Formats: sequence, structure tokens, C-alpha cells
Amino acid sequence: MVEATTSTLGEDSMRVVIIGGVAGGMSAATRLRRLDETAEIIVIERSEYVSYANCGLPYYVGGIIDDREALMLQTPEKLWDRFRIQVRTGTEVTAIDRAAQTVTVAAGGTGDGTGDGSGTGYGTETLPYDRLILSMGARPTIPAGITGIEHTHSLRTVADADALYALATSGGHSKAVIIGAGYIGVELAENFVLRGLETHLVQRAATVMPGFDPEMIAGFQKALVTHEVRLHLKTTAATITENTVTLANGTVLTDVFTILATGVSPDSHLAIEAGLAVTATGHILVDDQMRTNEPTIFAVGDATSKATAYGQRAIPLANLANRHGRLVADVIAGRDVRAAVASGTSTISAFGVVAAMTGMSERALTAVGITPHIIHLHPGSHAGYYPGAAPIALKVLFSKETGAILGAQAVGADGADKRIDVIATAMAGGLTADQLMDLELAYSPQVGSAKDPINMAGYIADNVLSGTTRTIQWHELDTAREAGATLIDVRTAGEFANGAIPGALNVDLNELRSRIHELPAGELIVHCQVGQRGHTASRLLTELGRSVRNLDGGWLTWRAGTGL
Ligand code: FAD
Repeated sequence: MVEATTSTLGEDSMRVVIIGGVAGGMSAATRLRRLDETAEIIVIERSEYVSYANCGLPYYVGGIIDDREALMLQTPEKLWDRFRIQVRTGTEVTAIDRAAQTVTVAAGGTGDGTGDGSGTGYGTETLPYDRLILSMGARPTIPAGITGIEHTHSLRTVADADALYALATSGGHSKAVIIGAGYIGVELAENFVLRGLETHLVQRAATVMPGFDPEMIAGFQKALVTHEVRLHLKTTAATITENTVTLANGTVLTDVFTILATGVSPDSHLAIEAGLAVTATGHILVDDQMRTNEPTIFAVGDATSKATAYGQRAIPLANLANRHGRLVADVIAGRDVRAAVASGTSTISAFGVVAAMTGMSERALTAVGITPHIIHLHPGSHAGYYPGAAPIALKVLFSKETGAILGAQAVGADGADKRIDVIATAMAGGLTADQLMDLELAYSPQVGSAKDPINMAGYIADNVLSGTTRTIQWHELDTAREAGATLIDVRTAGEFANGAIPGALNVDLNELRSRIHELPAGELIVHCQVGQRGHTASRLLTELGRSVRNLDGGWLTWRAGTGL
């Protein structure tokens, strides 16, 4: 039965209805209560849980988080007691009427949105609102062309995690097959390995985590392989049954359960049906106060498009959902606050290796027609003389015209995320890449270096921007050599013997001055292990009047990029 409910509050109080009671929705609800004691706040949540830690779900599946209750950050009862927020779990909004300012709510206790009325005691009704906040999140993307998709599982909700937990621990299957090697796919891969399952990761692209540039993610990918994740790259699933997967390349995997992790799509059908403006990908369009094209309706989180320095993008991350949830409450409470542009700062860790990034990748910049300056460096996580330092692969991209930092990526066992957070902060503060050299960062031998990797990046950026050094990227090398450039490897003979770029001439930096006559005419490209000795060599040769470029990131970056 559908019946209209009117607010029980006085004339001046406002009813705010929120669809979705997890990251964005619950941030908005609690913030709004802290700002406004009179508002009536109603949260409609389709599943049986509110405010749960969906980012922790993979680790519950793998047993790292062994207390399921730890994932439940709040309950409807606690939210009522502390905040007087009415949370209706097991209820689903099925329609929005913009003109009437109402939502249709179907009650149901199953959490699957069937609206069978068996659940929480709230009936099916038409609920008026003064302000509506949409935070419906995302759904797993269903790729076209796979037969038997109904036999796959996914991970988005607590119920999904319970199902995967049961599959991973029941002993019913010896193998797990994950289709899609993005964040959730890779996190699950680690956790299935921890459960002792033979774990297969199937990826259409040439690398895992395709948001990262290939030479950067190579080390992370290697760690997966080292820990016995079986990668199937440049292919996808063709046919799936209850316990087999046949890949497009002909590989057949038996005794498996299968997870679909090929990305997420916005859960925005309610907004689309209500005629709200969305992008071509179905992400809800909002202004810098999270307002949709209907002034009384706001939207946050994975269902929305995010404003970035390079236009609208889908960035389904928890920080933005929480931040924008808070912001929308401020706006509704009357504060004139605006969202900063999003940079998409993110990180993932598996088997002790961390990959982190902020801003645009080289690939993403190329796609929008921008050719940035690029630097790669391979510093230690802390002073080399103090035990336990681990190498970090760090890449910074910045504008050739202004020096503005456009993006950065880092991979390493220690300290990679910290450096990306510093760069994300620098970007937010408008620092240029060369200004990274002036940052005064905490240092002791256990945690950093007197010249922190961030400072080193600043020095290199300064050299590049000032023209003190000219660099060439690993993927530009072949073209330059075909055009006649000679490659000089300035590492030691021992390093050279351990592996070298084919056709390079080895002249140890310490012998370069005495062997200068051996260098052929024409353009020279110098390189070392990571780029630092190459820089010294390039300066010497430049001073001697030679045309020279330093291979950015040296042997390590070239090997990572070409070894995939
Ligand atoms: P959600 O938090 O998903 O909440 C949306 C809620 O809306 C859902 O509970 C849904 O049931 C409800 N809903 C939808 N439609 C209706 C309706 N019609 N009626 C009622 N209720 C409805 N991000 C990171 O930054 N770092 C991480 O490490 C990370 N790890 C993740 C791991 C996993 C397994 C998952 C699934 C996500 C992860 N994320 C991570 C992403 C992050 O969780 C999301 O960006 C964030 O939760 C989005 O918040 P949201 O409010 O938009 O959606």
C-alpha cells in the first residue's frame, strides 16, 4: 500500500531524506545533526546494515579481520540514540517525484530491495522531503560478451562478503578466479591466497591496476606473481559455469568459484528516471555544492561525477564520498562552502607492497592531449645506512609550461603512500614540482633521508624545468636510437654484466673523462641504474658541447617498462 506521510515536526523544521546509509549518506546525516538539532533526518538503506566498512570487506574474507562485528561501525539503534537519526534498513527508494518532492519507499527485510514488507517495521509509503540527498553508491559493472555471468559473485556489501567468506572457507572449491585486476580484484586475490586457495586473476589489459602507468605498476605486479597469484593478462573470461571458467585464450580452469571485479558503475537509475542530469556514463552531475540540476536534490559518492582539474571524471573513492557527504550537510545547514577539485588520490597494498597515486597518470594525460614533463626516481624509503630501507619507485608528472604538478605515482614496500600524500597535499596547495625541493620534511634515519625522496623529486624537477638536464623516457628510447643516437651506459662494468640495454656502450662514469674520445659523434643518450649518475654524465658531456639526454629513471625504469 502506498500512502503519504507528512512531517511530524513543526512548521520551521526541515525534513532531509537520504538515500543510502553508508559512506556518503551517513557522513551527511551525522554532520547535519551536529549542525542542526531541529532537522528531521531519515536515512533509507536497502541493505540490512548502515555505516559499515566496505573497504574492510576483502580483509574479512581473507581472515585478516576476524571479527565481523568490527566492520559494523554503527547500528540504527545507536544512530537514533545519539543523533536522533531515523535509519530504515531493509527499505528501498524506488522512485523520486521531483515536482511533488516525495520519494516512494518500498519496505522489505531481505535487503535485496524486493519490498516484501517482511522487515524492519516501516511500511511502503510516499515520503515527502524538503531536501533529498542521493548517496546510492555503485554496482559491479557487468561486462558484455561473457556467457554465464549469473554464476559469478561480486563484492560490494556485507552480504557479498559473507558469501565469499563461506566460499573461501568451506573447502568446496580449490581455486578462486577473479575477473578484473583493479582495486577490489587485487585485494581479493591477496586474501584468497591467504586462505590457501589457488588464485587466478584474469585481466583484459596488459597489466594489473591499469590506472597506474605500466612501468610503475610492474614491481607491484611482480609481487603478486611472487606470491603465487596466477595472472592471465590480455584475456578475459569467455564462458563461466558454476565451477569452471573458460578464458578467451582457451585456458580452462576447473573446480573454481568466480568473482566479477571489472569495475563499478554508478547506481544512479533513480536519478536518471527522475530526469536529473547525468554524464554519458550515468554519473550524476553536481555543482561544487553537490547540488544536482534540481535545487532541492543533492548527490554525493560513487554515483556522482567528480570535478577535477581536467573536467568531470568518475572517482569511486571513500575519501571523496565522506568529504562530500560532510559538505552537503554544511550546504543544507546554510554554510557557503564549496568542494575542492578532486585529485583521485588512492592506494592499494598487497603482500607488503604498496602502490599509490594522485592526480593524472601519463596515460590519462596523453588521452586529453597533454604532454607533461616526467621524472622517475628510485630513492630508498629511508637512509641507506640504516637497516631495512626499501626502494621506492616514484614518478612525478608536471606541466612543461607552469611546473604545476599534474600527478604522481609511487610503489614500494615502505613509504610510498607517505610520499604520495605529501605530493597530493602539495598539489592541493598549488606548489609547483620544483618547489618540492623546499619542503622541510620530518627526518630521522629510520623514516627518511636528509634529502627526502620528495626533495629529490623537487631537485630533478628543477633541473628539468630550468633546462639543466634534458631527459628521455624509456618508451622514447627506440625511436631516438633509430634516429641515430648512441646509448652510453655509465654504470660499472659489474652492473653492466648483470643486465644491460642491448647495444649500449659501457663507459663507467668514473672513466668518462678519460675515455671521452671513444664516444661517437651525434646525439648521446646516457643512462645509469636510476638516473643520478646519468645526470652527472649528461652535465659533463653538455659542458663539453655534446648533445645529450639522460634516460629518465635509468635502467630500473627501462627494465620495468619494457619487461612487461
Ligand atoms: P556506498 O558506501 O556504497 O553506499 C551506498 C548505499 O546505498 C548502499 O549501502 C546501498 O545499499 C544503498 N542504496 C543504493 N540504492 C538504494 C536505494 N534505492 N534505496 C535505499 N538504499 C540504496 N575506497 C577507498 O577510497 N579506499 C579503499 O580501500 C576502498 N576499498 C573498497 C573495498 C570494497 C570491497 C568496496 C566495495 C569499495 C571500496 N572502496 C574504497 C570504495 C568506497 O567504499 C566507496 O567509494 C564509498 O563507499 C562510496 O560511498 P557511497 O556513499 O557513494 O556508496
